[in-house]
Parts: sequence; structure tokens; C-alpha cells
Amino acid sequence: MDSPIDGSIVLFGPPGAGKGTQAGRIVELTGKPAVSTGDMLRAAVVACTDLGMSAKKYMDAGELVPDEVIIGLIAERLEEEDAARGVLFDGYPRTIAQAESLENVAKVSNVISIEVPDEEIIERIVGRRMDPETGDIYHIKFKPGADEIQSRLIQRKDDNESTVRNRLAAYHNQTAPLAEWYEERGLLSRVNGNRSIKDVGDDIASKLST
Ligand code: AMP
Repeated sequence: MDSPIDGSIVLFGPPGAGKGTQAGRIVELTGKPAVSTGDMLRAAVVACTDLGMSAKKYMDAGELVPDEVIIGLIAERLEEEDAARGVLFDGYPRTIAQAESLENVAKVSNVISIEVPDEEIIERIVGRRMDPETGDIYHIKFKPGADEIQSRLIQRKDDNESTVRNRLAAYHNQTAPLAEWYEERGLLSRVNGNRSIKDVGDDIASKLST
């Protein structure tokens, strides 16, 4: 790649903040493809690639996968044709080193930080379920889904309470400092994520249009 790709957006926030849910709406709004390092890593685990095998132990423990692995994964993804006009990053970058390396390959024009308190995150994640047929996300209490699909919903392996606490610790120690890093560069917009999906989405849409 010769020069950094323009116009990428970063969805920033703790696990369970609703980044994946909001990504769908932003993709519709902007036409930029979503790039989720978490989804890419989970696909690599299912496919039993070397990358997946080396990432799995970190993911199961709720720790961050080493920067060099993630940086390589992103460099490869951004070579694809659909990334040429910028992408929507979900769950990346998660460390200052990742953000610094991203500057070499893509210019970030907006960082949307979805803010949700820790107590709320734990309830959200532990009750989170996924429909393996559609990829849609449900919640045992807030969005149980129709009777006929409930029996097929599955829980992500790292969505249990002890792993969530590690994921939150990784977020506070390694990822949260990035908010200030982006704020210093005038790129950060904070959004209260402790509201309905629609209200959070409306707020993000208005931040992206200004
Ligand atoms: P997520 O689906 O974004 O919550 O990611 C699930 C897990 O994948 C995380 O707990 C990390 O182990 C790993 N992961 C995803 N994205 C990154 C990243 N940018 N840097 C390091 N580890 C990551």
C-alpha cells in the first residue's frame, strides 16, 4: 500500500457496549464495510488456522491478542478492494501501539466512543446469546427472541462472568487510554451507550454527520 486509505471510522468502547450492534447501522449509513478484529479472530479459531490457534488462548482468558498478530491481520484486510474508501473498525485499535501502526495504513476521520458503566456491561454480556444461523445477537432478559429460535441460541465462550471481568480489566488498562490519545487529536466523540439501541444509533448518526 502506497499511502494511507482515507476516511475510516473507529467504534470504540468496552466489550458489550453495543459496538457490533451499532456497526450494522453505520455500515448502512456510510457504505463502509465493518472490520471487526474479534469476528476475524473467531473465524480463524473456527477454521483452526495457525493464527486462530495462537489467538484462542488469549481470547478464552479475556486477554488481548498480541499487537503484532492483530497488526498483521489488519494490514492484510485493508489490502482488499472494499477497503479502498475507508472502513468501520469495530474493536480495533485496542492499544496505543495498534493505533500508531494504524496511522501508517489508514487515516481515521472519526472515533465514536460508546460509554457504558461496568455493572451494566457484566449483565449485558453474561446474558448475551447469538443465533448461529443468522449471526443476530439476543439477550436472555432484554431480547429473548421468538420461542422457535430460543433453543438454538448459543453463548460465546468468553461471555462468562470471570472472563468478562478480565476483558474489562484489559479494556481499562490497555484500551481506555486510547480515548485520550484520540481526543488529543480532535477525533473523539463520546456517546452515552446506556440508552436504547435506537437512541444510541441516532446520536452516533448525528455525530458522524457533523
Ligand atoms: P471482541 O469480539 O471485540 O470482544 O473480541 C474478542 C476477543 O478477541 C478479545 O477479548 C481479545 O482477546 C481478541 N481481540 C479482538 N480484537 C482485538 C484487538 N484489536 N487487539 C487485541 N485483541 C483483540
